[in-house]
Amino acid sequence: MKVFYEGEKGQAVCRDCGRVSTTFGYHNVPFSDGNGTAKNILAATCDKCGRVVGIPPQSTPAIKAARERALAPLEAKLPAPYLEVLDLACYRIAPSNAPDFRKRLLMYYVRRYRNDTKAAEFLGNELKSAKALFESQIKSTAQKRLSLKVSESMSRDVQDVMNVAHLSKTDLFKSIVLKIKEDIVEPDKPQELDRLQEIAAILNC
Ligand SMILES: [Zn+2]
Repeated sequence: MKVFYEGEKGQAVCRDCGRVSTTFGYHNVPFSDGNGTAKNILAATCDKCGRVVGIPPQSTPAIKAARERALAPLEAKLPAPYLEVLDLACYRIAPSNAPDFRKRLLMYYVRRYRNDTKAAEFLGNELKSAKALFESQIKSTAQKRLSLKVSESMSRDVQDVMNVAHLSKTDLFKSIVLKIKEDIVEPDKPQELDRLQEIAAILNC
């Protein structure tokens, strides 16, 4: 595999100028879907108009990494007590870093269901009874917005779990929060607390 260097010349077809000579250099390269850019990537540009016309293989990992870092918004409106339960669990795991931990805790569960299709299939059924019970207790009409920014790959994982569980985004988050309530908020000694505290400590450093 050939490695290219800044200043090296080449040839390519430019969308505007046809067959042209090119020069390799470091540029901000837009993602193919236009949703953001990978910054400072070695790419070949058209010598006539300056458009990026070629990406050498050595730049692919950096573009992929930038793509994964690009954040997708993930929003849901939930009755306020759901978010209070979530925050309480976060506080129990990472008292000093609770607000930041919301996303990570939710995504920890998303990953878990993403990797355990059987459990994900049951989520819908489990939710029905747990939700009915919880919502009869809370009698709350106050709604709060859960607003997260997640990586593209996380966003895909959320979608995958929604598909397997046949749940809307709101119901998926409700069912995860109820699971978190059962796992982390209610027990005197939550089973996974040590593990989650370890993760929180690593993320905090
Ligand atoms: Zn051109």
